[in-house]
Amino acid sequence: MIQHQYRKGIDRSCIMVGANHSDLLSQSRHNHTIQHTIMATIKQLEATVGSLSAPSKMPCHGFSIPAKACNVGAKLRKSDKSTCSSCYALKGRYVFPNVQDALQARLDKLNSTDYSNWVESMTELISRKEKSGYFRWHDSGDLQSLNHLMAIVDIAKNLPHIKFWLPTREYKTVKSYVDQYGDFPSNLTVRLSAYFKYSAPPTKTADRLRSVCSTVGFDASQHICPSSQQGNSCQDCRACWDRTIPNVDYPLH
Ligand code: SF4
Repeated sequence: MIQHQYRKGIDRSCIMVGANHSDLLSQSRHNHTIQHTIMATIKQLEATVGSLSAPSKMPCHGFSIPAKACNVGAKLRKSDKSTCSSCYALKGRYVFPNVQDALQARLDKLNSTDYSNWVESMTELISRKEKSGYFRWHDSGDLQSLNHLMAIVDIAKNLPHIKFWLPTREYKTVKSYVDQYGDFPSNLTVRLSAYFKYSAPPTKTADRLRSVCSTVGFDASQHICPSSQQGNSCQDCRACWDRTIPNVDYPLH
């Protein structure tokens, strides 16, 4: 399993094996933890990271946290013109108490668990539960920090047979990652969501940040989400996971 040692703050480094006794001891403890994770039951893994979500129109599982915890989204929601102003994750079934509790529990675990443990448990949980070959991050919520993005990258590297889609409005966090670590693994599509309805995709920013885009109500998009014409379901479409599609538009109804 690919694993990095997360530090408090924004840096990370690979674990070095065999440099000295302390490193060997650290590596031994780390291997023990991985072994422990592999032996864990699904219930034990969910106790560490929370359960996976099951977005109704998607072909796969997802992972979601409260939309009210979105950093950029909280600012955008103040404008009626923003793509966050009528956020679906702040209404409907997402506000049912049991759903809110599950979202908050995942965020609490993310914030309180050591990122190495989070990566190991999420890798194992996704590996066991996701059989479609696809996974969606954040059908509700967004990146909380650079560490959070680094952990998502590590999970993608650990599971190269799964394609991951990460929609985000946290451009600064993506920039911090790309500035320090370069491109994303080929099985992770980072899609920068446009801030405002009807606006063009943030193509130049996305090109700089090794990402692609999504828009809302931008009629000139080469690809428009077909889900509303197919029972509000993705069916065979996997455009959002496809890095060769520079923009996906979600029409306003
Ligand atoms: S563009 Fe395709 S993959 Fe993306 S949400 Fe719409 S139907 Fe699903």
